[in-house]
Amino acid sequence: MSLAPLARIPKAELHLHIEGTLEPELAFELAARNGVTLPYADTEALRQAYLFDDLQSFLDLYYALMAVLLTEDDFADLADAYLARAAEQGVRHAEIFFDPQAHMARGVGMGTVVEGLTRALARSEERHGISTKLIMCFLRDQSAESAMETLRAAEPYLDRIVGVGLDSAEVGNPASKFREVYAAAGELGLRKVAHAGEEGDPSYVWEALDVLGVERVDHGLRSMEDPKLVERLVRDRVPLTLCPLSNVRLRTIDVLEDHPLRAMMDAGLLCTVNSDDPAYFGGYVGDTFHAVHEALGIDPERVRQLARNSFEASFLDGSEEDEARRARYLAEVDAYEF
Ligand SMILES: [Zn+2]
Repeated sequence: MSLAPLARIPKAELHLHIEGTLEPELAFELAARNGVTLPYADTEALRQAYLFDDLQSFLDLYYALMAVLLTEDDFADLADAYLARAAEQGVRHAEIFFDPQAHMARGVGMGTVVEGLTRALARSEERHGISTKLIMCFLRDQSAESAMETLRAAEPYLDRIVGVGLDSAEVGNPASKFREVYAAAGELGLRKVAHAGEEGDPSYVWEALDVLGVERVDHGLRSMEDPKLVERLVRDRVPLTLCPLSNVRLRTIDVLEDHPLRAMMDAGLLCTVNSDDPAYFGGYVGDTFHAVHEALGIDPERVRQLARNSFEASFLDGSEEDEARRARYLAEVDAYEF
């Protein structure tokens, strides 16, 4: 099924976990290549397992399937498969999260993950027409010490990592736990983002801003509960990387029609729309644009605004080359015909 023009508008994807792009077919292919036995009869049985109904069953499956990712080739193939799909969805720039702790815990080293991913990213512009950046996430349900060890393990690869993020189970793991590692990351010249306000209340977003010093908030869905917070986010033009299909699949909201995206845009927030873990959440980013258009009545001019926001919120501002890319992408958005 090919996507409607509205869904294929040129865009940046800023909230995408590469491990969350593992489709059942590739999971089986990598399992066969690596001699790993998956506890599913075939791709169809695995696809059924993707129809989980809560966060814990998602996370259980998510971590279990990572067992097939072992070599540089595996990570390169995973990233390449995502980029090919993203290109079909109108993505022109992608800032991709990865979770090194989930791999290092299985004996897969930082070097294997980064070398594999960046092999695919290095040829992405030529092969898929997508520029890329890589963001290393810390798992917030693990200790601050573990996050610091992860940052140290990444030091030889910092020429290929633009920033740090914070993901996994939010409630009970506030941003303040990671104050020191974010300060250290800042000293290394890394950009800062963090998941906040997905399940956690607005205090989690305040901490991400004031304690960690993030430039961009991943999700930030619950920010609307605190008018002072909205005022702050609007004043400082802090981008939010919203993931509406993820919110529905993880039951943060009941149905897409209840998503506050329209109200958030009306409030002047710098909203972007992203796919999060698209293999698991029922759609890639173009599909997500289509879904919010249908369910929330986000009209074509607002779709264009979301596309513009995605480039404005990106980290395409660190070099002349990147600034030129951003200007080119914004011109493509402005000229795009639905
Ligand atoms: Zn996420």
